[in-house]
Amino acid sequence: MNKRKLDKRKVLIAILIVLAFISIIIYNITLDNKIIVCIDAGHGGSDVGAINEDTNRYEKDDNLKVAKQVKEELQKQDIKVVMTRNSDKKVDLRKRCNIANNKHADLFVSIHRNSSDTQADGVEIWVKSRDNEKNKVLANNILENLANQEIQTNRGVKEGTMQGTSSDYYVNENTNMPSCLIELGFISNKTDNKLLDKNTKEYAKAIADGIIQTLEDLDITK
Ligand SMILES: [Zn+2]
Repeated sequence: MNKRKLDKRKVLIAILIVLAFISIIIYNITLDNKIIVCIDAGHGGSDVGAINEDTNRYEKDDNLKVAKQVKEELQKQDIKVVMTRNSDKKVDLRKRCNIANNKHADLFVSIHRNSSDTQADGVEIWVKSRDNEKNKVLANNILENLANQEIQTNRGVKEGTMQGTSSDYYVNENTNMPSCLIELGFISNKTDNKLLDKNTKEYAKAIADGIIQTLEDLDITK
């Protein structure tokens, strides 16, 4: 009699363990089922990025502000967003790529601001120079949406780096998914800064819309 009771208890415990495992598996499948976009706010912490010395404006702050709003817009569409940083801290480029690659993000978008000694202005987007078809779809979609906002100049989608097409920006080269790097106006240009401050939400929405369009164009569904 006692032995039977013990056996019943053992069976019950075994069933509970199996149920627990099944729920963990189901939970993970549901999580994995979401589309994941990695948003990378350029620079951070002691790496301030470009500076506008007249107004003490740091690129790192603009990047994070826009990145957070892009995240919000994407989350409204039930897209899971992975940020390479959520606060003012330094994250090296390798770690940024590792975050996106380890989470198996479907797309990677890096947000930066440009700077120049001349009176350059406007928005441009960089992609890697080889095997970049999907990257170009992403960059073109985002730029098209941004160009419909109040910006000074559409500087186009560009390949490689400012030095040419023999090298790529680190994050474009070392992420495993389609990626691009947005230069959201010049921090050295007064009007670009004014436009960004006035239209931060619109710019963020335009970037998010470009990302969502790309998921559709590249048939990324889950
Ligand atoms: Zn930058």
